[in-house]
Amino acid sequence: MIPSVLPTYNRAALTFVKGEGSWLIEQDGRRFLDLGAGIAVNALGHAHPALVKALTDQGQALWHTSNLYHIPQQQALADKLVDNSFADTVFFTNSGTEACELAVKMTRKHFHDAGQPERVEILTFEGAFHGRSSAGIAAAGSEKMTKGFGPTLPGFKSLPWNDHDAVAAAITDKTAAILIEPVQGEGGIRPLPDQCLKGLRDLCDEHGLLLIFDEVQCGMGRTGRLFAHEWAGVDPDIMMVAKGIGGGFPLGAVLANEHAASGMIAGTHGSTYGGNPLACAVGCAVVDIVADPAFLAEVNRKAGLFRQKLEALIADHPDVFESVRGQGLMLGLKCKAANMDVVNAAYAAELITVPAADNVIRLLPPLNISEEEVVQAITRLDTAASEISTAVEAENA
Ligand SMILES: *Cc1c(COP(=O)(O)O)cnc(C)c1O
Repeated sequence: MIPSVLPTYNRAALTFVKGEGSWLIEQDGRRFLDLGAGIAVNALGHAHPALVKALTDQGQALWHTSNLYHIPQQQALADKLVDNSFADTVFFTNSGTEACELAVKMTRKHFHDAGQPERVEILTFEGAFHGRSSAGIAAAGSEKMTKGFGPTLPGFKSLPWNDHDAVAAAITDKTAAILIEPVQGEGGIRPLPDQCLKGLRDLCDEHGLLLIFDEVQCGMGRTGRLFAHEWAGVDPDIMMVAKGIGGGFPLGAVLANEHAASGMIAGTHGSTYGGNPLACAVGCAVVDIVADPAFLAEVNRKAGLFRQKLEALIADHPDVFESVRGQGLMLGLKCKAANMDVVNAAYAAELITVPAADNVIRLLPPLNISEEEVVQAITRLDTAASEISTAVEAENA
């Protein structure tokens, strides 16, 4: 019989009932150190006092009105994002994939209004993840995501990762945009080198294309800058944000410059819940903390420490780990052992990590993780790795 919860997830045998900062408490009382943060969502950990206050204060005042009326919290959050980014304007969504939908619609409308309706093709990349909506899976293009769900939305072309010549060769008079994660998340924490991001901007400028960044996972301070593309000094025309921006409350956004967004006039798009008072009150509290340069400096300091200790961990366990990659607190450990074995051994050591493609485990701690917790994380990873080595030796004996 089909379970009452549609069984689209392979869930770990863990049930968390409470969260405190970087810690998750299982129903049996065990305390897990959380290096998953709900897949880069709980940017400020669990039950952060400022976020709890923003949510409960707003909860007492007003939950929902609809976008038929002005929403002051939405206006405030849009202003904060515009002040802190390349963007001129923002539309709020409830998720990352809903942001992808708008990024695609905005692109098509832009070229429609520019008298170039034939320009509909968006270039995307192998290993990409843009969510599970029809546009999201078509953009990712992988068989894993699209198989059985055809016909997929037309207008996407998937290209090899980090291959400038392949992108240049793929541009035709039908090309509208390039869509890329500056650091691939699900794809295995793969950062695109700065000069490649610059190369994409140059191609877009040369051919009149829009550049779209998916910063759903790598944005909101995760890499040590408010947005990952700031490291390369390259601005997109459109950017998708979600995950960390709500700190655990469902919230996403599309940020855009005026050039890209000018076609999106009244009546062209909407969302019942998008930008609701609860989500935006929390979003404002998150942005106030994360956009502070002093906070981001701390993210970078702890990331440096974490990385240094991870290098030592890899040296201690060359049979389990291969290398570390990523930026800021968006770290990937490329494994030699099967990554799911490492994730499971970490569970046994009461540590949460998240698997990704390319045999990587992701370390995506709360951005406000403490130094002592970084040390704890390394200790637990060390325990997990030793368990795996012992198990392998026992098998070979
Ligand atoms: C998680 C993710 C999405 C999808 O976000 P949802 O909120 O799950 O719809 C899109 N793009 C990237 C890069 C992501 O990591």
